[in-house]
Amino acid sequence: MKINKPISHSSLTNDPLHKMFDEVDAISVQGYDEERRVIYWNAGSESLYGYSKEEALGQKLEQLIIPKPLWEHIIPAHSNWVHNNIEIPASEITLLNKAGEDVNVFSSHVMFVNQENKKQMYCVDIDLSDVRYAQEQAIFKEKMLEAVFEASPDLFFLMTEEGIIIDYRAHDKKSLYIPPNKFIGKSMVDVLPEHVANKFKLHFNRALQQEGEASFEYELAMPYGMVYFEARISHLPDNKQILGIVRDITERHKSSEIIRQHAYFDTLTLLPNRFLALDRLSQMLNEAERNNECAAVFFIDLDDFKKVNDSLGHEVGDKLLIAAANRLNSAIRKEDTVGRLGGDEFIVLIRDIKSDHDASIIADALLNIFREPLRIDGRELILTLSIGISMYPQNGDNASELLRNSDIAMYQAKALGRNAYSFFTKEMNVTMLRRFEIEEQMHGALERNEFEVYYQPLLDVKTKKIIGAEALLRWHNHSLGHITPDEFIPIAEHTGLIIPIGQFVIQQALSFLTYWQQVTQNKYVMAVNLSPSQFRDKELFNFVKNILRDENLTANSLELEITEGVLMTGQSYVAETLMQFDLLGVKLSMDDFGTGYSSLSYLRQYAFDVLKIDRSFINGITLNDEDRNLVKAAIAMAHSLGLAVVAEGVEMHGQLLLLEELGCDFAQGFYFSKPVPAEQFITLSKNYKLDEP
Ligand code: C2E
Ligand code: CA
Ligand code: CA
Repeated sequence: MKINKPISHSSLTNDPLHKMFDEVDAISVQGYDEERRVIYWNAGSESLYGYSKEEALGQKLEQLIIPKPLWEHIIPAHSNWVHNNIEIPASEITLLNKAGEDVNVFSSHVMFVNQENKKQMYCVDIDLSDVRYAQEQAIFKEKMLEAVFEASPDLFFLMTEEGIIIDYRAHDKKSLYIPPNKFIGKSMVDVLPEHVANKFKLHFNRALQQEGEASFEYELAMPYGMVYFEARISHLPDNKQILGIVRDITERHKSSEIIRQHAYFDTLTLLPNRFLALDRLSQMLNEAERNNECAAVFFIDLDDFKKVNDSLGHEVGDKLLIAAANRLNSAIRKEDTVGRLGGDEFIVLIRDIKSDHDASIIADALLNIFREPLRIDGRELILTLSIGISMYPQNGDNASELLRNSDIAMYQAKALGRNAYSFFTKEMNVTMLRRFEIEEQMHGALERNEFEVYYQPLLDVKTKKIIGAEALLRWHNHSLGHITPDEFIPIAEHTGLIIPIGQFVIQQALSFLTYWQQVTQNKYVMAVNLSPSQFRDKELFNFVKNILRDENLTANSLELEITEGVLMTGQSYVAETLMQFDLLGVKLSMDDFGTGYSSLSYLRQYAFDVLKIDRSFINGITLNDEDRNLVKAAIAMAHSLGLAVVAEGVEMHGQLLLLEELGCDFAQGFYFSKPVPAEQFITLSKNYKLDEP
């Protein structure tokens, strides 16, 4: 039966087994007969070992790919299998290719028996260099990852979807809240403090349910202090795991703390700034509403701070603000707030107050602690406060209303003469509304020709002749009617509109003077009032000089009336401007003498020509010795300094007689004439004759 005829290779090519091997050309498959001659060699073998199918077929296994040293193992092993059925186990083995190079393979073997009952060994060799490469890659990647972990200050936690920690990486074990053996196998939620655990729980759910990722911040008390962390949670659905990356953000937190400090606190005094103070005010009001309590808002303005700042310099001013802030802070309860609203304005918030009376006790206490001088650079400075108080709920139920009303009340405290406090009343609101209306109407008033300059005669006390006039401004507004200068001048100063308005007065008064002198063929002096803020106009001097030139007037026909307030600003440009006017020959007059500080030093320091005694003293000279003595002393003193004296507000014959007796040079007042419009003034001055009784 047995036909011992050599196996023809072609007879086997149709073998379904070969067909299958032909398909898998990525894997090397070889077939050998009982004599180890190649009967099958697929494409995978061609590329792995370098022999073509034609080259390989019929060759002996050991001649092709088995290195010599292995012959003694492989040849007997094959024969053992063929004859004794002892299988050759699969193994890793290094074979040779056609070029004589090593080829690492994982070789497995199967034995088939063919139709002719011949045994055929098939070897399936997997190229291990690929696998090795993959393995090396895996090792490399792992090492790289380790290096990344090592270099990263972040903490990595690998968790199950249930939050059980299965692995971690930490560059520095110190940054772990508890040692690894205490958390591996446990849930984050079990090992962290409750408030942090809750955050983890919440964000695990977020990451798992929808977003896939979630991040949040938390802080932990570590042995070396409070540490701020940022956690990023990623769901790895393929691995059914959660990755948590935790970063120490304490530094970042610190710098954002600094930014916060800048945003909410005043850098100079370190008090809450306007923004934070108003926020606290709203909070206080919410609380007061909830608990049915009263609260008070104090609006505090330092008196005459601008003068100190201008005369002693900003550095001293800054130190003074700091000292004042500290003093205010030391005077209030811990639960109350002192904030700086800006400039020299502060706010004090007093919670849970029983009555207005309580608020006035606190206000008194605040005024009191400022009686003690503040020591700045070895200097002792007295600072006083003006306090405006608004009460919750009587004076408003929201922050802006209470702030506004306390501000209004503060103005009232200033009007009371400073170093005082004032409770808000509804009437004050009326005053403020009026102020706003005036401010609004004043814009455009010049263009609408609503201003007119009136003139009041100045008389020589001895001769009773008109020697000049004072220009006094009048304003008639279409909607507000007549507004007195005492009311609108301070507002014009405040808004800066005093500069164009003041220029209008100077222009009008000087061209009127020219006209007046022309029609009367007489020489007169024109007195014009200048307020402190007009000196801020750098062009003031040139403006005046040009008009004098254009109107062909001598400089000494103009007299500028200024108050002590101008000099007290201490600004160098004020002194310079006054000096320029003096050099030009313009006369300078100290107005309202007796009402302010009445400091003699100013009279000596600046080149004044005239002293104008305030009408409040003139009013009293015939009534009380005090006023008479003061006027007498003022006249004597002015004369000794070479100044002429003007008495203003003369209303009665008796006053004039007394002034003459005291040696007063000039007088002005209703007794002679009220301020009148230009044309009327011309008529008046042409026929002037005082009717003395
Ligand atoms: P002032 O400089 O002290 O002006 C004198 C004020 O006393 C004027 O008030 C005048 O009408 C008033 N007066 C004059 N004689 C008598 C009198 O016998 N009895 C009484 N009771 N009052 C008398 P007026 O015109 O209302 O001005 C008030 C203040 O407004 C002025 O006080 C001055 O400081 C300021 N002012 C007026 N016009 C101007 C101006 O053009 N520029 C500036 N900067 N201020 C002005
Ligand atoms: Ca005046
Ligand atoms: Ca005056």
